[in-house]
Amino acid sequence: MKNLIGLSKNELNAELIQLGEKPFRTKQLWHWLYHQGETDFSEMTTLAKPFREKLSSLYTIIHPKIITEQNSKDGTRKWLMEFEDGKQVECVYIPEEDRGAVCISTQVGCAQGCKFCHTGTQKMMRNLTAGEIVGQFMTARDSYGEWPTKTDENRMLSNIVVMGMGEPLYNFENLKTALNILMDGDGIAISKRKITVSTAGMADHIPELADLGVKLAISLHAPNNEIRNQIMPINKKFPLEKLITACKEYQARCERRSFITMEYVMLKGINDSPENAQELMQLVKGLEVKFNLIPFHKWDGAPFEPSDMQTIKNFSKILENHWFAAPIRRSRGEDIMAACGQLKSARDKKEI
Ligand code: SAH
Ligand code: SF4
Repeated sequence: MKNLIGLSKNELNAELIQLGEKPFRTKQLWHWLYHQGETDFSEMTTLAKPFREKLSSLYTIIHPKIITEQNSKDGTRKWLMEFEDGKQVECVYIPEEDRGAVCISTQVGCAQGCKFCHTGTQKMMRNLTAGEIVGQFMTARDSYGEWPTKTDENRMLSNIVVMGMGEPLYNFENLKTALNILMDGDGIAISKRKITVSTAGMADHIPELADLGVKLAISLHAPNNEIRNQIMPINKKFPLEKLITACKEYQARCERRSFITMEYVMLKGINDSPENAQELMQLVKGLEVKFNLIPFHKWDGAPFEPSDMQTIKNFSKILENHWFAAPIRRSRGEDIMAACGQLKSARDKKEI
């Protein structure tokens, strides 16, 4: 049976029209699915009983299943979620100064193989469907009891960061469908300004993110092609010139002024010298950016060491002296291995 979660509003409408229903039924059903978070057709009391019965004979409503949940002492919560075919991803709630963000995945595994990333050591299994991308956020809401959709000020789960497993822009169509569902004001209603998509640099789709209105983060991690080629294979296909051009196009297409977050993981002796900082500032000329310096999270067998804290602070100072924001990212959920680049599926964990 077909899962209704993940169908765009138009697709849902087409399904109902095929069943001979009037278009206003789409609105009602959408409200049950995405405003109420209802998973049981028989509870959808505004729909006529025969219609409910017809729906439940043809469709399912499935949120990903929680296999495990871990709570960190700093308030981070990590779930291992499972989809219908048994594939699993991790999803994390990260408390921030003002409420918090849910970090969601777009693929099981990742094909990009960045040398510093644990996910990159896993095989790419498959793309997630739009329903599985939206579903992670819905399951997180289930876990926090935030249905029906609360007003923006009253919800804990206020933001979404697409920074989990996988490269979102290599699953672009499903990502787009999912974001449109997550942003829909009649349902989950997360404002586009509260959604950030992070990419390793798949330049072709970057400008289109401006049309969706979401924020952009780039996993930059290097000030020149030489270093970037060593640590991020995607740079061979989309070298920095192409990436920076795509970022400029994104900013030109954004309706409102939108800073790009440049993520920069600090790797000892690789990309952390004062000269690297200078080069980095040259590289981003003509763009409005803020940096986010990420202490490298070491994992077993990782080919790099984290930079010393003093080195990171010096690096940050150089950027800040030139009026760039360059905070050092505070690590969250370290005690439950929830930090970036550490997300894994359980199955692969067992293999190691
Ligand atoms: N594939 C996308 C989104 C997921 S990765 C991307 O690469 O942007 C989320 C972030 O964690 C990226 O910035 C990634 O570069 C960073 N990251 C990966 N491994 C890490 C590690 N071991 N330590 C610190 N950050 C890491
Ligand atoms: Fe994939 Fe992003 Fe990890 Fe690179 S950093 S391997 S693109 S998840």
